[in-house]
Amino acid sequence: MTNVTNEYGQVLNCVLTTGEGAGLEELCQGIVLRFQNAGEPEPEIIYVDRDCCGASVLEWFRPWKTKVRLDIFHFMRRFTAGLTTEHHPLYGTFCSKLSCCIYEWDQDDVSHLKEAKRSELKKKYAGHLPTEAQVLANISSSELAKHCRRRTRGVEETRNLIQGLLDSMWGLTDTSGLRLINPESMTRVWQVQQKHLPCIQDPPGAELYTKLGSTQKGDKEVQTFRCGRGSSSVESFHRHQCTFIPGERIAVEYLLAQSDRGDLLGPKQDSELGVVLPEMQAEVLEEESPDVTISEVTDILINSPLKVPQYDDQLEMSPPNTPFLQEGSSSTSSQVM
Ligand SMILES: [Zn+2]
Repeated sequence: MTNVTNEYGQVLNCVLTTGEGAGLEELCQGIVLRFQNAGEPEPEIIYVDRDCCGASVLEWFRPWKTKVRLDIFHFMRRFTAGLTTEHHPLYGTFCSKLSCCIYEWDQDDVSHLKEAKRSELKKKYAGHLPTEAQVLANISSSELAKHCRRRTRGVEETRNLIQGLLDSMWGLTDTSGLRLINPESMTRVWQVQQKHLPCIQDPPGAELYTKLGSTQKGDKEVQTFRCGRGSSSVESFHRHQCTFIPGERIAVEYLLAQSDRGDLLGPKQDSELGVVLPEMQAEVLEEESPDVTISEVTDILINSPLKVPQYDDQLEMSPPNTPFLQEGSSSTSSQVM
């Protein structure tokens, strides 16, 4: 399944193909034509989940001269091939640190959010002034995404930081002695992925955030932003799409519905719409963080992502779930902005 969305998360087109890559040229040329017909300028950046530095993406979208970037979630996801298991207790820590190696937060935005949160908590607890730790503990990752901007750190800084992160976690194990990193696989992964470090950088001068307005928190106002970077919204759409297709029974259910024998389908048939409603999946309905690459909130003030770890403590407090475990579809996506 290939989806193309715009910077508002609206799906521009969607095709189902038997293999990855095949048939995408027509899809892309159709989008180019629609932009031309609408008198819209070509987009500044296209985010893809693969083929970032090959010629094929620009060939499909010809004559556009748009910058092609690799979606950072997909870049990070590739490192899991160098780990022993995604269920390792250090997995969440690793992902969070990896995100810090790539992004840095705008410190002005962060301090505005902290001030607002402090004021909000003070109001809530009858004038009692919260500590720095309490303020941080009460900032959620979706608040960070809404009120704070991030930028990429640049190729060399990210290269050094990821190298440092790998060095610092290379031999770490859980209590049973299982390593997090598989040295052989990670060596290969890192060697290949270094080539894509330029592909994940924000293009210089590109305005990736749109100011939406401001929100009142306590007696402070904080700005609200929408981020156009990456393909997080299209990934959520992919997960939603998975629930349209209830396993291998799709063909039978579809045919029964089409041939007016939907009555054979049992209780899942919606009589009014005449369609088969998939079972709700709680996972998809949960409110998700708008950007899955957001690191742990406690990391926002740390300039170097490598300074934190007290790994013994992390073993116990490591989050049981991380965004990476949620990607279930083998799909291609791209975003035009
Ligand atoms: Zn690349």
